[in-house]
Amino acid sequence: MKAGKDTVVSIHYTVSDATAAAIENSRERGEPVAVLLGHGGLIAGVEHALEGRTAGERFHVTVAPEEAYGPRRENAIQRVPKKYFHRPERLRPGMTTTLALKEGGRQAVTVHKVGMTTVDVDTNHPLAGKILSFDIEVVEVREAQPEELAHGHAHGPQGHVHADV
Ligand code: ZN
Repeated sequence: MKAGKDTVVSIHYTVSDATAAAIENSRERGEPVAVLLGHGGLIAGVEHALEGRTAGERFHVTVAPEEAYGPRRENAIQRVPKKYFHRPERLRPGMTTTLALKEGGRQAVTVHKVGMTTVDVDTNHPLAGKILSFDIEVVEVREAQPEELAHGHAHGPQGHVHADV
């Protein structure tokens, strides 16, 4: 069957930036990553590239920031009290970490500077402004289960296990 809205696609992927340095390789984590298409689980550029694909296809797609994590914003450094971080003692400049948001959810940030009681973070997504290059292998395409459609994400073979692409 063909990948499209309301299908679950299992993929292996490698993503790298313009320097060709690999950022992430799903094979290092073992199982392919399952994603429910059409529910915002993937960046737009990859979602579009997957449409109409079938199991066994391998392809390459280059995604501009507008279809990935957006452009880098200037003045995105914020000073945040250490108590908002899970393990502030481990933070070092250049590290990426996540921050709980007031409005709920979490945001990926890059540590800029660690002070005595506060941490300056760059709130741009670590991949903002980057042109990303994906090598994708479609392992499986299947119809989504009603429960997956209700949750808006794919479940793994063990049930409610969530991918985090
Ligand atoms: Zn779920």
